[in-house]
Amino acid sequence: MHCPFCRHPDSRVVDSREADDGAAIRRRRACPSCNKRFTTVETAGLTVAKRSGATEPFSRAKVIAGVRKACSGRPVDEDALARLAQQVEETVRASGCAEVAAHDVGLAILAPLRDLDEVAYMRFASVYRGFEHLGDFEAEIAELRTHQALLATSGLAEAGETAAGETAAVLRYGGAHDPAPPPVHATSAR
Ligand SMILES: [Zn+2]
Repeated sequence: MHCPFCRHPDSRVVDSREADDGAAIRRRRACPSCNKRFTTVETAGLTVAKRSGATEPFSRAKVIAGVRKACSGRPVDEDALARLAQQVEETVRASGCAEVAAHDVGLAILAPLRDLDEVAYMRFASVYRGFEHLGDFEAEIAELRTHQALLATSGLAEAGETAAGETAAVLRYGGAHDPAPPPVHATSAR
């Protein structure tokens, strides 16, 4: 890898360590020409296949940009958005596939966003799932209430356990090779 300071075509690794719980390797490098040091981060490639058939590298920044719009005016800070994007990346990487469908990325956003802010969740879900009628919102709100009631009665309110359950749910109904459109709730057809 060339030096970003002087563009010398080679550099020397002086330190390597795991980052992001093993999902990445961070390497400290030194340039033999200008002696400056810099860091590189190595992750397994993860490609997102869009509905158009085009592909692009997975980007946490794009996840955050999409969710930020839904969070406009809501009490959600940048740290929470960064954590959500990390959760989304972990969920899609857990599928074990090097390429995931864009709609699976969207699915992986829904569960952590629901736990983060319900209004933002409704906004995101309405666009992502293509709500067209008041009935779609009513069905989704009914589902949110059921989810809350379940959490309240099952004693699963611990954040960690909930997150694990949501991840499992997302993986169950959104396989990485499943090209089907997002599931439409049966009661959402008015
Ligand atoms: Zn250099």
